[in-house]
Amino acid sequence: MKKQDLKHIAIIGGGPGGLMLGLLLQRQGLPFTIFERGYKTTNSDRGGSLDIHEESGQLPLKEAGIYDDFRKYARYEGEDTRIVRKDGTILYDEDAEDEGERPEIDRGKLCDIIIEQIHPEHMKYGYQYEKMIPQKNGQVELIFESGATVMTDLVVGADGAFSKIRPYLTTAEPEYTGISMIEMNSNENEHPDLLKFNKNGKVMGLGGDQAILGQRNGDGRIMAYISSKMSYERLDDYRNLSLDELKATLLNEFAEWGTEIKKYIAYSYDDIKFRRIYKLPIGLTWKTQPNITIIGDAAHLMSPFAGEGVNMALYDAYLLAESFKTYDNLSEILKVYEQQMFEITEVHAKESQDNLEIFFSENGAEIMTEFFTGME
Ligand SMILES: Cc1cc2nc3c(=O)[nH]c(=O)nc-3n(C[C@H](O)[C@H](O)[C@H](O)COP(=O)(O)OP(=O)(O)OC[C@H]3O[C@@H](n4cnc5c(N)ncnc54)[C@H](O)[C@@H]3O)c2cc1C
Repeated sequence: MKKQDLKHIAIIGGGPGGLMLGLLLQRQGLPFTIFERGYKTTNSDRGGSLDIHEESGQLPLKEAGIYDDFRKYARYEGEDTRIVRKDGTILYDEDAEDEGERPEIDRGKLCDIIIEQIHPEHMKYGYQYEKMIPQKNGQVELIFESGATVMTDLVVGADGAFSKIRPYLTTAEPEYTGISMIEMNSNENEHPDLLKFNKNGKVMGLGGDQAILGQRNGDGRIMAYISSKMSYERLDDYRNLSLDELKATLLNEFAEWGTEIKKYIAYSYDDIKFRRIYKLPIGLTWKTQPNITIIGDAAHLMSPFAGEGVNMALYDAYLLAESFKTYDNLSEILKVYEQQMFEITEVHAKESQDNLEIFFSENGAEIMTEFFTGME
């Protein structure tokens, strides 16, 4: 099929990847709709601060003409980095210099900046994709949970870790990495001592099977991922505790940790999220299909320990949009995009897994300190 014959492109999922792709296609005048199961505010409630990399995540922002908006909210001072051993010793302490290459932005804010530019008729909220039925004429009928149906020429799955589009391309499924996180939040105005410890950016507290990963967000929150190696089932035990019981349990499990870093647990208020960390096989590929592809976590879910997930989701959108710009034939557009995407994401998926293994090793704090010192 030729690009100019495309009557409709369906993007399933309005997270950072799907939104970015929509905006880039809009700039090329291509006919698309983003179908998101949640509502317009869905993204504001999800996730913390993300560092957006100059060589990947920032490229589509520039291409879409929203880099200046991004800069308005980007926190360059958010690049402050501390590495702390579990006994409380600060091994590495870097203050961000003027304008680094990886400024931070809250996930909700990033999504808002993109959504503001997308014409509302391209966004459909409350559309939970259920299944698709390929038609004889090469089109695909999409069926949503509400019973609504849509006929489309191309389906792009941007529906995250547990994508329902991915099974049309590969039998691979996300696998639990053995790490789970309890996301806790404290109010920086109420706890200036914790803000002083965390500074403007990130704290990596690393100690064997446990980690405390703190980060300042742009909305007055100091977020921490209280992380441990644990069985798949164990996380459910924490879910059943009250806030006070949860704090007491964690403070007991992290008893050997330094007093300052344990404040992320002690000060947290009642907005807890429980996350199991999954990954797809590293180096996953598939045979290009005529009218289905995937981007972002749907294509290459990786653990967050290299800070690449959202950058790769944004970069996929960029690569696919560039391929649309360059080629006329849909099969070529998809093939070139997927090959470029496979190549780069394999590198970052491997890096994420390597970092996971370092973070949760006995000398993780020392190894990461050497790594950061070597980069200076
Ligand atoms: C604890 C944690 C910390 C992280 N930290 C970082 C970090 O520091 N840096 C970084 O780069 N990355 C980080 N990530 C990863 C990052 O959040 C993801 O890689 C990124 O959000 C992927 O974007 P996406 O658009 O592909 O998918 P998502 O953000 O998952 O968006 C998918 C969208 O699809 C929608 N959807 C799902 N199913 C359907 C359906 N059936 N029908 C319609 N819509 C559907 C969802 O509602 C959602 O809006 C972290 C992840 C976790 C879990």
